[in-house]
Amino acid sequence: MLSYRHHYHAGNFADVFKHFCLFSALEYMTQKDKPLLYLDTHSGAGIYQLDEKNREFASGLGEFFQLDTQVLSEDLRNFRDFLLSLPQRGIIPINALAGSPIIAASLLRDNDTLHLCEMHSTDFPILEKAVKNLRARRTVISPTDGFDAVKAALPPPARRALILIDPSYEIKSDYKRCINALQNTIKRLRSAVVLLWYPLLNRKITEAEGFIPALIAEAEIAALPYFNQTFIQDKNADGMFGCGIFALNPPYQFPEKVSLACQILHKYLA
Ligand code: SAM
Repeated sequence: MLSYRHHYHAGNFADVFKHFCLFSALEYMTQKDKPLLYLDTHSGAGIYQLDEKNREFASGLGEFFQLDTQVLSEDLRNFRDFLLSLPQRGIIPINALAGSPIIAASLLRDNDTLHLCEMHSTDFPILEKAVKNLRARRTVISPTDGFDAVKAALPPPARRALILIDPSYEIKSDYKRCINALQNTIKRLRSAVVLLWYPLLNRKITEAEGFIPALIAEAEIAALPYFNQTFIQDKNADGMFGCGIFALNPPYQFPEKVSLACQILHKYLA
């Protein structure tokens, strides 16, 4: 039984970083006409009401929304404008935060496919409702295991995919399952773009040892390009002090855009 609820962390620094990466990759990938599959293996609830639960918002998105426009890169400005437009466009309620499924669904075109997996029995119905009016032409919303969906959903007919793998790592086998998901992706669709999020923790987790080298090894064995970027918020924080994104087949200029965004965010959110 899963106990992690993303509501308590929605809008934190890790979400700002991860959602910027997602926005940046999808913005680029949706420029090409060919249909795209977006697979979100760990979708969460999609929409989070801003309330007393998500206190981490203040030092993440709350801070980001307040930054002087002049200190932002063009991409960070576009990302912020996009997020701020969501309540204005009626996509999320005022005083709510968008999760990865909503960000993706609002960027996909009519011929793309949205495939969402969420196993938490409370969050799944919230997710279903959140994306109801936002569906790309083909939508799959499933209360099943997102790691397994990698095998089932790939390759899509048009052989283009972006996969966001964003577990809570509440179950320690998630580390191993992420590596397997990367292997399965490479086997089924070498050209798939994968964005894999991971936490940086101030405590020893045996299962996390050698995690990033193992991801890198998978890319190198397959001779595929990859990019790994970490974002440190507070080295001395208890628990999660930072996080990272491992990108397989990073889209054009993704590494440059993400590195620059990180340098800026590090100045103001850390
Ligand atoms: N991607 C979301 C976002 O950025 O807005 C946040 C996702 S949250 C970090 C991880 C979610 O994965 C939780 O809602 C949890 O219930 C769900 N989950 C955990 N294990 C899962 C699995 N094996 N398959 C699908 N969902 C899972």
